[in-house]
Amino acid sequence: MPEHFFLKEIEGITGVAVSECYQCFRCTNGCPAARDMDIVPHEMIGCIISGERGRVLSSASLWACLQCAACSIRCPNGIDIARVFAALRRLSVESGMAADMDIHDFDSLMVDSIARHGRMYELGTVIRYRLSRGEYLKEYHAGIGMVRKRRIGLFPHNAADRKGIRSIIKKTVKNGR
Ligand code: SF4
Ligand code: SF4
Repeated sequence: MPEHFFLKEIEGITGVAVSECYQCFRCTNGCPAARDMDIVPHEMIGCIISGERGRVLSSASLWACLQCAACSIRCPNGIDIARVFAALRRLSVESGMAADMDIHDFDSLMVDSIARHGRMYELGTVIRYRLSRGEYLKEYHAGIGMVRKRRIGLFPHNAADRKGIRSIIKKTVKNGR
């Protein structure tokens, strides 16, 4: 694939003018997850511009990103890097190149839980996640301890406007955000 195709693909999906990056490093300097990344934010943008599709989509950095948007706020060119990272995550899953499906799968269960209850039901989400992996008893002591200390609830507590929250999530997922 010619280099500019990947750049156009990402700019088309996100509406972000990635090509305007002038590699000032401000995004990386403010990123709290940079130390855990194999490709730090300014490099990620550079890789997109130079068309390194495989390297980008298989990068573990996509799954280390916290979506805190510190990079986007710091960018002097208004490049919404957090949005680009979110789009790259989706693309990496769709193209079968995701370096870490665990985080993607847990995120999906978490969003599903919020859609059901209007807020996250932690215990139910963790149990569903563990069951999906056949890890029936993994870290169950920690779970029991947290319930006993009332850090997490045994049962879900539904939000008053959960229908409204569900509708927001549906629209967001439909728009691919
Ligand atoms: S802060 Fe913006 S212009 Fe600077 S390197 Fe990051 S993306 Fe590029
Ligand atoms: S959104 Fe991701 S890439 Fe940007 S600063 Fe936060 S952790 Fe780093």
